[in-house]
Amino acid sequence: MTSQPSAAGPAIVWFRDDLRLSDNPALRAASESGRPVLCVYIHDDGRDGQRPLGGAAKWWLHGSLERLGESLKQIGAQLHLFEGAAGDILPRITAATDAAAVYWNRRYTASGINVDTAIKQTLRERDVVVESFNGHLLYEPWQVTTKSGDPVKVFTPFWRAARALGDPDRPLARPRSINGYRWRDGISPAPVSLADLKLEPTKPDWAGGMREAWTRGEAGAQERLATFLESEMKGYAENRNRPDMASTSRLSPYLRFGEISPRQIWHAAHAALESGRTDAGRDDLDKFLSEIGWREFSYHLLFYNPDLSARNYNNRFDAFPWKTDGKALRAWQKALTGYPIVDAGLRQLWTTGWMHNRVRMIVASFLIKHLLIDWREGEAWFWDTLVDADPANNAASWQWVAGSGADAAPYFRIFNPIGQGEKFDPEGDYVRHWVPELAMLPNRVIHRPWDAAPHELRRANIELGKTYPNPFVDHDAARTRALEAFQTLKSAA
Ligand SMILES: Cc1cc2nc3c(=O)[nH]c(=O)nc-3n(C[C@H](O)[C@H](O)[C@H](O)COP(=O)(O)OP(=O)(O)OC[C@H]3O[C@@H](n4cnc5c(N)ncnc54)[C@H](O)[C@@H]3O)c2cc1C
Repeated sequence: MTSQPSAAGPAIVWFRDDLRLSDNPALRAASESGRPVLCVYIHDDGRDGQRPLGGAAKWWLHGSLERLGESLKQIGAQLHLFEGAAGDILPRITAATDAAAVYWNRRYTASGINVDTAIKQTLRERDVVVESFNGHLLYEPWQVTTKSGDPVKVFTPFWRAARALGDPDRPLARPRSINGYRWRDGISPAPVSLADLKLEPTKPDWAGGMREAWTRGEAGAQERLATFLESEMKGYAENRNRPDMASTSRLSPYLRFGEISPRQIWHAAHAALESGRTDAGRDDLDKFLSEIGWREFSYHLLFYNPDLSARNYNNRFDAFPWKTDGKALRAWQKALTGYPIVDAGLRQLWTTGWMHNRVRMIVASFLIKHLLIDWREGEAWFWDTLVDADPANNAASWQWVAGSGADAAPYFRIFNPIGQGEKFDPEGDYVRHWVPELAMLPNRVIHRPWDAAPHELRRANIELGKTYPNPFVDHDAARTRALEAFQTLKSAA
């Protein structure tokens, strides 16, 4: 383990949340180093203090690694997979191959930063060149500050300050060919196969709905972006709240795993508007990019509040009287709350690993405010079931809904699941798709089946309490109870 880098040693690219060839600064640096390029992915699965990926994200990762390996092969390199703690494995690979340089794109979780800092130190002590880059964000979290140089706590000034930094850099082109490092048998640690990582479910294979819904990998991301820009971005400013329409980009899992970069999205969206390749208006573009801005803001929050997924950003909420109610939590998780829009969202999540943003807010509000269950339970469920489960966006968004977060929704904003359904799914198409047992109900009662006349229920083959549940809690009573509970925060302040 004490060997020094040799003149002919490879340059290692350590892939993490950047599973793409284009606009990948670490890959670019390695391929321009003049050295053979050794491409590495290390599945730590909770070692090194990392939060283990949830089931849906693991499924996504499998396909993404497979595609990345194929793309690298096409340009002359190979993806080598390892399993274990990166803090142990990467220095060993570096020593065993006499690598002269290691490149990676930065990550922003506290555990990730700690591991990376320690590895950087170990390798530099051995005279290995180590360089890291921004491949994940438009602007580094520390670049955006208030006028006095502090972190920004409110979205609008955050985004204004970020935009004042100028347009993000232009994305880098994909390398045309790479001089791939030839791995010699017998080098230890030995790479493992993708199957060895056991990322995809087998018995039972619950990923069928996700397989149907998604094409994982960089090419899938570029295809999704092109379709969105050309035919779906028009009307985004108005329609992005409509779960019954294909009105948002569905780029979130690709962004999560870095199969596309926000810089690529930014520049492609502007180019589409300027060249007339989209019918979308400037307001659509600005709104869309400001949602990418929320992602930047979430990372800014995570960077300065490393325990964002575990602790209330606003510690006044530490005294909140959450209920421990396993039955209620299970009804929510199983999408059997009796509120059609809530159950539809949770079933979309379970089947496809994704849920529309408006519905994420509705189901989160329902768990926190109607059931008085700690937002961390919901965050954990989303972490396990979302293909885009993201350390920054998920935690920041759950805290936003709870009212405990930065620039959060006020605690007294309690979404009415009936009114929200009627407003954003006006014909009930979204509910009919995901809760087919209600499909035959007339529009008037699709979001409130308990108000249907007996003959309407009969005609729709619905027996409330049997074929579809009665509401788990009464909306008005739950609202009053939530306001009373939140009142305790006020008196504690
Ligand atoms: C309770 C809750 C949990 C959430 N958990 C996650 C999560 O784990 N991962 C995740 O990527 N997003 C999360 N979001 C944010 C948002 O719902 C998704 O990013 C969005 O629905 C993804 O769909 P899209 O790609 O079509 O979005 P678009 O509307 O097309 O937006 C483009 C991109 O902007 C980013 N974005 C959009 N809205 C937000 C937002 N409110 N906060 C931060 N970034 C945003 C995403 O990267 C998204 O892909 C959560 C929201 C809520 C309310």
